[in-house]
Amino acid sequence: MAEHNDPFEFLHGAELDTLAVRAGQVRTEEGEHGEPIFVTSSYVFDSAAQAAARFSGEQPGNVYSRYTNPTVRTFQDRIAALEGAEAAVATASGMAAILSTCMALLSSGDHIVCSRSVFGTTTVLFGKYLQKFGVQIDLVNLTDLDAWENAIKPNTRLLFLETPSNPLSDIADIRALAAIAHAHDALLVVDNCFCTPALQRPLELGADMVIHSATKYLDGQGRCLGGAVVGKAEHMNEVLGFIRTCGPSMSPFNAWVFLKGLETLRLRMEAHSASALELARWLDKHPNVERVFYAGLEDHPGHELAKRQQTAFGGVLSFCVKGGREEAWRVIDAARIISLTANLGDAKSTIVHPATTTHGRLSPEEKLNAGITDNLIRVAVGLEAVGDLKKDLERGLGQVG
Ligand SMILES: *Cc1c(COP(=O)(O)O)cnc(C)c1O
Repeated sequence: MAEHNDPFEFLHGAELDTLAVRAGQVRTEEGEHGEPIFVTSSYVFDSAAQAAARFSGEQPGNVYSRYTNPTVRTFQDRIAALEGAEAAVATASGMAAILSTCMALLSSGDHIVCSRSVFGTTTVLFGKYLQKFGVQIDLVNLTDLDAWENAIKPNTRLLFLETPSNPLSDIADIRALAAIAHAHDALLVVDNCFCTPALQRPLELGADMVIHSATKYLDGQGRCLGGAVVGKAEHMNEVLGFIRTCGPSMSPFNAWVFLKGLETLRLRMEAHSASALELARWLDKHPNVERVFYAGLEDHPGHELAKRQQTAFGGVLSFCVKGGREEAWRVIDAARIISLTANLGDAKSTIVHPATTTHGRLSPEEKLNAGITDNLIRVAVGLEAVGDLKKDLERGLGQVG
């Protein structure tokens, strides 16, 4: 948070690549070149008067790492700079970011309109836990603007979505949905986990707040859990208030790992996207593949929109093999390089069968509506040589015809 005077004036107008490496770093008197990790739970005051001033908030400065830590602050300032936001608040995980946003901004009796195609746990958070406290939720189809508009009630406070969607790569029109939200005095919150600010900046398209699971591409190497909420200072102060009181704070070690991850974010996102596009085109021509879902393909319904609001199409694609569950499992089990795990946003490619894992809790009818068929496979393309990934998928695909 911008509690200190702006020491980053020299970065005003700097481009994303520069911000990813430089934003947020405040050098100590030691003159260190890299960002230090402040492994401390609390901070010492010069005098009783200073302690009193810090506690009352009269004087800015650190009190306790549940609410401020210099390494965490560097991460917050850097992610805020990358998203073009006034401020950011770091959290212990992506789910903690979503929970903290809701706890800070919603009250009993409020209503959320949420895309049907969001991270499954997000729907459980809204539908099971927030509902216990009197928050109502309605789910709508991500790409159906009329459905969003029609679902809004007088008590609607938040519209929540992810774009591209997981696993079918549907694309939401962020600008149009921001206009709908604002016409009804609601806020548009975008989970930007799949694109990261390297490929898409929702705030520039009118969204009010961005959510991150830093666990995915911001880290980029599958090491740490973390999250962030990014937006206006006014909203971030509310979110920080919740974190300060309730404690889902980011650890300074994790913040440092994410800072290192951010330095290579654009290079990685471009490499993930280039490999995913090549793999999608290869799968699209494969005789044993029925259909490929990737917004980078010209015949994907969201292709033109994705081209307008993203700078590349991201690293996640999915495809239907010819056959059913047995054939899909055969392709997955034959892979030796690509890891069988539900995680994504890693240098290591991953493969998963959505119908029996990430989307396993949906009823058969819900799966049908969501397009989660038994022959669907999701691949989150990592940084290995794409030729080797093709060979790895071919091990199983060659057998299913
Ligand atoms: C993983 C994920 C989350 C949750 O993040 P955690 O860090 O695992 O808590 C939220 N949204 C999306 C899109 C995700 O992929």
